[in-house]
Amino acid sequence: MLRDVPVGGGAPITVQSMTNTPTADLDSTLDQVRHLVAAGCDIVRVAVPDMEAAATLRRIVEGCTVPIVADIHFDWKLALKAMEAGVAGIRVNPGTIGSKKHLEEIAKVASPTQTVVRVGVNAGSLEKRFKENKVREKDALVQSAIEGLKLMEDFGVEKLKVSVKASGVEETVEASREVSEKTDWPMHVGITEAGTLWSGTIKNAVGIGALLAQGIGDTIRVSLSSDPLEEVRVGSKILQVLGLGKEGPQVVSCPTCARTRIDVIEIAELAEKELSGYRAPIRVAVMGCEVNGPGEAKSCDVGVTGGPEHGLLFVGGKLKKKVELDSIADELLSEAKRLINEYEEGKDA
Ligand code: SF4
Repeated sequence: MLRDVPVGGGAPITVQSMTNTPTADLDSTLDQVRHLVAAGCDIVRVAVPDMEAAATLRRIVEGCTVPIVADIHFDWKLALKAMEAGVAGIRVNPGTIGSKKHLEEIAKVASPTQTVVRVGVNAGSLEKRFKENKVREKDALVQSAIEGLKLMEDFGVEKLKVSVKASGVEETVEASREVSEKTDWPMHVGITEAGTLWSGTIKNAVGIGALLAQGIGDTIRVSLSSDPLEEVRVGSKILQVLGLGKEGPQVVSCPTCARTRIDVIEIAELAEKELSGYRAPIRVAVMGCEVNGPGEAKSCDVGVTGGPEHGLLFVGGKLKKKVELDSIADELLSEAKRLINEYEEGKDA
C-alpha cells in the first residue's frame, strides 16, 4: 500500500508521473499535482534534489490527495528527511546512493515509518563495477536490482517495489521480465528517457504494452520529454487499450480512404476531446463510408457512418436515424453525452 493505493497483489494497475516544477516551490508543485490527479494520475513522484526540497515535502504530502513518492539520488540523508516528512514511498537508485552503509541507514527509517522503498535501477546510472567488469547492460540492470532488493530485505525493509529501466525497449522488456521471474515484489515498469511526445509515446506503448500483456507490471510511468500531463494521458490510454484501465469512453474510427464521405479525422478528434474525462465505458464509432461503417457503428454503443447523401446514426446496435452530413458530429456527440448522463445517473442512484 502506498498510503491508500494498493500496488501489486492483483490490485488495479496504477499510473504514475513526476512533477517538473521546483519541488521547493510549494504552490506550483501542488498546482501541478492537482492537474495530474485530475488527468487520472494515481501516484505522484517528486524529485528531492536538496534539503530545501526535502523541507517542503511535509506540506506537499498534506496538500495532496494522492500518495507522494520522493525521488532520491546521491544523498541518503535526503531519503531520511523525506520519510520523516511522511511521504508514502521513496525511490532509491543503488547506482547513485552508493554504499551499503547508506542503504542501511535508509532502511532503518523505512521500516518504522512503513515507507515503501522502490529499488529503481536505471541504465544511465548503474554502479561503476558493472562497467568496469564489462557486464551487458541488461544483465547489469537485473543484477543491480536483485542485489538492491536483497540488501533492503536483509536490512529489514518490509515494503519494497522494484524497477529496471533503460531507454531501449528491448533491454527494458528483457530485464523487467527477468527481474519478475526472480522476485515477487511489485514491479514499476516504464521506458526511461524515451524521448519526445510522439516517439516516446510509441516506445512506451510498445515496451509497457509488451510487459503488461505478459502480466508483468503493477504500476507504470510513461516518461516523456513533454508536459507530465501527457505522461498520464498516455499511461491511462495504454491501460485502457489493454483492458486494464479505468473506465471511460473509447473512440473507434476508420483510417479514412478515397471512399470517405465525412471528415472522419476532425470528428474523431473532436469526439475524443469532448468525451475525455467521463467515466462511462462507452464505445463511440466514427466511420467514413458504407463499406465497414454500419457494421462497426452497430458494434459500438453509438456510432455514425458517412453515406452518399446522408449519414447514419446507430445507437445500441440499431439504426436510429438518417442525419445530414454537416450535422453528423453534433448528432454523434449529443447521443454520446446522453448515454454518458444515463450512465452517471445510474451510478449515482
Ligand atoms: S470505413 Fe470506408 S472510408 Fe473508412 S477506411 Fe473503410 S472503406 Fe475507407
